[in-house]
Amino acid sequence: MLTLKFGGTSMGSAKRILDSVEIMIGRAKSDRISVIVSAVAGVSNSLQAAIDGCITGGNATTYVESIRKTHVEICGQIEAELKGFDAKEVLKKIEINFTELEKLLAGVASFGECPKSIHCRIMGMGELCCVPIVNAVLQAKGQDVIVLDSRRFIFTTGNQAEGDVDYGRTAIAFESYKDGGKNGSNRIVLLPGFVCSWSEHYDDEPKMGLLGRNGSDFSAAVVASSLNSTRCEFWTDVDGIYTADPRVVSDAILVDDMTYEEAMELSFFGSKVLHPKTLAPLAAKNIEAWSLNSHNPEARGTRIGRGPFESEKNVGPVRGISCLKNTALISVSGSGMKGRTGFASRIFQAVSRAGISMLLITQSSSEYTISFCVKQAEAQAVEDVLSQEFDLEIREGVINKIKVQEHTAIVSIVGDGMKQNCGVAGKFLDSLSARGINLLAIAQGSSERSISVVISGEFGDIAVKAAHLFFFNTAQPIEVFAFGAGTIGGALIDQIRDQHDKLLAQNIDIKVYCIATIDGMILDGNGLDLSNWREDAKKATEEASVDEILEFVRDTKPLNPVFVDCTASYDLPNRYLDIFKAGMSIATPNKRANSMSMDFYHELRRVANENHCRFLYETNVGAGLPIIDTLQNLFNSGDKLTGFNGIMSGSLSYIFGKLDEGKKFSEAVLEAKELRYTEPDPRDDLKGTDVARKALIIARESGMDIELDSIKMNSIFPEGFSIEGTTEEFLKRLPEVDSYFEEKMAKLKKENKVLRMGASIKDGKVSVGMLEVGPEDPLYGVRGGENAFVFQTERYTPIPLTVRGYGAGAGVTAAGVFGDIMRTVSFNPMK
Ligand code: ADP
Ligand code: ASP
Ligand code: MG
Repeated sequence: MLTLKFGGTSMGSAKRILDSVEIMIGRAKSDRISVIVSAVAGVSNSLQAAIDGCITGGNATTYVESIRKTHVEICGQIEAELKGFDAKEVLKKIEINFTELEKLLAGVASFGECPKSIHCRIMGMGELCCVPIVNAVLQAKGQDVIVLDSRRFIFTTGNQAEGDVDYGRTAIAFESYKDGGKNGSNRIVLLPGFVCSWSEHYDDEPKMGLLGRNGSDFSAAVVASSLNSTRCEFWTDVDGIYTADPRVVSDAILVDDMTYEEAMELSFFGSKVLHPKTLAPLAAKNIEAWSLNSHNPEARGTRIGRGPFESEKNVGPVRGISCLKNTALISVSGSGMKGRTGFASRIFQAVSRAGISMLLITQSSSEYTISFCVKQAEAQAVEDVLSQEFDLEIREGVINKIKVQEHTAIVSIVGDGMKQNCGVAGKFLDSLSARGINLLAIAQGSSERSISVVISGEFGDIAVKAAHLFFFNTAQPIEVFAFGAGTIGGALIDQIRDQHDKLLAQNIDIKVYCIATIDGMILDGNGLDLSNWREDAKKATEEASVDEILEFVRDTKPLNPVFVDCTASYDLPNRYLDIFKAGMSIATPNKRANSMSMDFYHELRRVANENHCRFLYETNVGAGLPIIDTLQNLFNSGDKLTGFNGIMSGSLSYIFGKLDEGKKFSEAVLEAKELRYTEPDPRDDLKGTDVARKALIIARESGMDIELDSIKMNSIFPEGFSIEGTTEEFLKRLPEVDSYFEEKMAKLKKENKVLRMGASIKDGKVSVGMLEVGPEDPLYGVRGGENAFVFQTERYTPIPLTVRGYGAGAGVTAAGVFGDIMRTVSFNPMK
């Protein structure tokens, strides 16, 4: 005997049902089979929504109508495909359920509440409606089917909506079908999942009960156990059990084999793939379980069994990572608990009297606190019973008020190989701290098969992604959100596109999720296809919006989102704090943020650190030249800046270089302007304000607290020369200064010196202006648009540390930003 369970995902449409039936028939050729089916996909959720809606006065008929429509459509489609399937006939059978459903929902609406018995009867309708459809399809295909009503075979007690199975009674009910027995011989035994018979006490009149949400898995296990099946197959919509929920971790790895205990632990801690109670009855009888894909029946699937398995030899200690959401962490603490016996048992008894089970328990080593998790929905009840239980102690102050942290998530790593394998817990916690996730509690299962952490619920998915990355060494994602795609931004996006495959081979998966330009914004949660991004961005219909990006990041929680500001915007840096708060790192060539007030400068770093984000701006000075990173390395290791000289503008480097050759100053400026080395108005360069910003950033980087307006600006122009008026007027007047520069150059030539324009830092003061330098000075030969940075430090003395090279240009600047983006990956595994 084989037992096959088809979940809602295999019952989602006419085609899915027909495909699933083919699988049943295939199996029935060589084995006797029992089949458990769930409700049609989405129907159980619709039923829950109907209950919730009717409690608050919704209209029962509307809900029933929509659920009826789902079934009518499916039956119609099957009839069109399958001869011998009479939709009308099937719908007539199901209609009884809809009539009852409408009555029940109307009752819920008029009373404004839904008692448990009614809840069970309503929720079970999905399965009761699905069975007649599957039965009719099997019959139409000439199969011999016997339908058993699980409400007369599976007996439960305890919680009516999430019953505990009475295996003895259930086995007796199934007796005559056991081993494909006399009543079941050669017939396909078909049963609805999820529903069962429930009574509080053995002798009570039984009522309809449920096995809990997702309970059809459990139904199948109970049936497999009761019928002595040799194998139980769970048919769903994924190829088997993955190392994490593939909906959360897109590159989760399919697991070939898993032990019962591993699968049990994973499902207990939230892996939705199997109902938590499913594996115990199968393990008890050594019934092999398989997780299979009805959408891809050729796939091998995952085997769950006793183990050890051959396939386990080459895998790490962790087999899976799960996340149980909607939990709450309750803490009981107080000086009165220390060293006293009996407190723990009072806590546990009180909670168990309330019929609530604990999901995880931890005790601090000081015995000062006991914490445990329960389902969020039960948190209030737990708080109430404990407050009552310890009322006296709380009033006397020996026990603190019961603490409830709501909406927590339990993230667990599971694997038999964790036993005697040290370092696993450390790695797990490292992965979480790399993402700045705060741990509320930690627990290790005594079997050493699982380690769980309790964290704030909103970080559940991100924690799973982070841990998965560490344990399975899958490609590290970088999700780029490009704001501004002009010359630098555009070059950057092209570089990312061209490097993607190479980086992936090194285990880094860099993708551009968003491109925002003045034309609008394109955003794709799986990463944009960059092959024609310029055209795509032009066609954008949505306006570029930082808020929209932040909302997207908050909703989808990418693991390593990087906001790239490639604009020259004055305002955008005002949003940087919000961007960090949303958990995004920032990489930018935009100097604005770092040249605003010193307070803002500190605030940026504080908020970035607080949110475990990186703020990266290597290209703020010297474009792609390694300046900022070099300085940070120097100063982090204890060096100190004693002096600095630099030529930090390509246009000024070009203009002053030309003076060496005997060019007139005005001609040099015009030439630079024609070559587009200068801004459209060359005064923007000549005044030195841009140089001042860069000098400010270098000064701040070397630890100086300094504002932009305290930088001394020495004009390069002679006194009395006006730089007012339009660009044309200015340029026309410019030859007036030629003789001034000629005289200067003549004098310097005698001293064997040249004239340069740049910035200096000396004795805690920053100045911008002309420098007269001799051949021994590293700036002497710097011309033609080249930049040079000369750092005198305590260690680099007397010969300074000099960095020189092109300090402008889209290609090198974009490469610098790219380098910054790459710094956001937490580790860089070699391949
Ligand atoms: P069914 O309706 O067949 O019972 P479910 O939706 O209940 O299907 O469960 C299947 C889903 O479980 C998959 O689509 C997958 O997204 C999710 N899932 C969660 N964790 C895992 C995991 N570790 N491996 C595979 N699937 C998982
Ligand atoms: N239909 C029920 C649910 O959605 C049971 C199941 O599908 O396993 O919870
Ligand atoms: Mg399920």
